[in-house]
Amino acid sequence: MKADESHAADSHAAIRDAVRALCATFDSAYWQKIDEARAYPEAFVDALTRAGWMSALIPEEYGGSGLSLTEATVIMEEVTRSGGNAGCCHGQMYNMNTLLRNGSPEQKRMYLPKIAAGELRLQAMGVTEPTAGTDTTRIKTVAVRKGDRYVVNGQKVWTSRLQHSELMILLARTTPLDKVKKKSDGMSIFLVDTRKAIGNGLTVKPIRNMVNHETNEVFIDNLELPAESLIGEEGKGFRYILDGLNAERILIAAECVGDGYWFIGKAAQYSKDRVVFGRPIGQNQGIQFPIAEAYMEIEAANLMRYKAASLFDQELHCGAEANMAKHLCAKASWGAANVCIQTHGGFGFAAEYDVERKFRETRLYLVAPISTNLILSYVAEHVLGLPRSF
Ligand SMILES: Cc1cc2nc3c(=O)[nH]c(=O)nc-3n(C[C@H](O)[C@H](O)[C@H](O)COP(=O)(O)OP(=O)(O)OC[C@H]3O[C@@H](n4cnc5c(N)ncnc54)[C@H](O)[C@@H]3O)c2cc1C
Repeated sequence: MKADESHAADSHAAIRDAVRALCATFDSAYWQKIDEARAYPEAFVDALTRAGWMSALIPEEYGGSGLSLTEATVIMEEVTRSGGNAGCCHGQMYNMNTLLRNGSPEQKRMYLPKIAAGELRLQAMGVTEPTAGTDTTRIKTVAVRKGDRYVVNGQKVWTSRLQHSELMILLARTTPLDKVKKKSDGMSIFLVDTRKAIGNGLTVKPIRNMVNHETNEVFIDNLELPAESLIGEEGKGFRYILDGLNAERILIAAECVGDGYWFIGKAAQYSKDRVVFGRPIGQNQGIQFPIAEAYMEIEAANLMRYKAASLFDQELHCGAEANMAKHLCAKASWGAANVCIQTHGGFGFAAEYDVERKFRETRLYLVAPISTNLILSYVAEHVLGLPRSF
C-alpha cells in the first residue's frame, strides 16, 4: 500500500516511527499465542510503559511527556495498525484525562508521578451496570458519606483490565435519583485503590468473551473509600465522565483507523499473492473494488478522528465530533474487516493469518464503549434538533 498515511498524520512521524518500531518486536506469533491462551499481553504493555508511551498524556512536571490527545491517538493507532490489540492498554489513556482535568492538585501529586514511573496503572473504569445498561443515570451503585469515608454498594459489569490496574475510576450515585433536579446530577466519581479494595468489599469475576479482552463483573459490598478518593465535586461525576468518554471515543476511533489500515494492507497483499484461475485474485475488479472502497472509507473517517481530537485538545465542545469519529471509524474498520476476510476466502478463518482475530477485535467497537444506536440518537437529537426519543 503506497498511500498509507493520511496528510494530517504526517506531523506525527516521529511518534509513529518509534511506536511502530516497538510494536514490530511483538509479532503476529506473539499475539496469536496471547489470544489462544486468553492471556493479558503483559510483556507488550510493559514495553510500552517502559518506553514512556503509557504516560504520554501526563504533564512533564509529573514525569510524563505532556503529549496531546491527538498524539496519544497516534500511539494507539500504531498498536492496532501493527496487528496488535490496543484494548489491553487504551484505558490508561482515556482514564488519564479524567484525573488530569478533574483531579485535585493533591491527587495529581500523589498518583501521576507513580503512573508515569510505571509503578501504578490506571487502566480500569467502572461505569456500566447490568440493569442500567446504556442509561447511565439509572445506575444503582450508591456511595454514602459516613464521616471521613464513603461506603459503596452496588454492581458493575464489563469493567475491563481490573486485574492489571492498581487504580480504578468508579461511578456511583451520591444523591438519590428522586432528589435531583436533573437525572444526570447526583453522581460522583472515585479513584479506587484496587489493591486495597479487592477482597475488602470488591469482588471480581472475569467474563469470558468473544475477544481476548480482560473484562469483569464487579460486586461491591460495603466498600469503604477515604473521602479523598472523590474526584472533583460531589454530584458532578457524570459531567466529568462524559468528558473522559469523549477522549475514549476519539482514542478508539484512532484504533479503528489502525485496524482499518491493517485489514486493507493485508487484503491488498493477499490479493496480489494469491493466484486462482491462473491470475492473482487482485486482478479481478470484484476483489479490487471492495478493497479500494474500504480504503476510501477509512481515509474519510480518519479526517473526523483528527477533527474531534483537535477540538478536544483545544478544550472545545467535541461531543458530536467524538461520537461521529468513533461511529465512522468503527464502521469503516468493520467494513474493511469484512472485505479482508472475504478476500482471504477460507484462509481468512485460519488463526495463523490473524484476520479472524482482528475481525473479532474490531467488531467490538460498534458496541463498546458506546453502541451505534446511541450515537445515531445523539446526532439526531443534539446536532439536528430532532425530538428526544428516550
Ligand atoms: C468487551 C467489553 C469491554 C467493556 N469495557 C467496559 C469498561 O471497561 N467499563 C465500562 O464501564 N463498560 C465497559 N463496557 C460496556 C460497554 O460500554 C457497554 O456494553 C455498551 O455501552 C452497551 O451497553 P449495554 O451492553 O448495557 O447495552 P444496552 O444498553 O443494554 O443496549 C443493548 C442494545 O440496545 C440498543 N439500545 C438501547 N437503548 C436504545 C434506544 N433507546 N434506542 C435504540 N437502541 C437502543 C443499544 O444500542 C444496544 O445495541 C465493555 C463492554 C464490552 C463488551
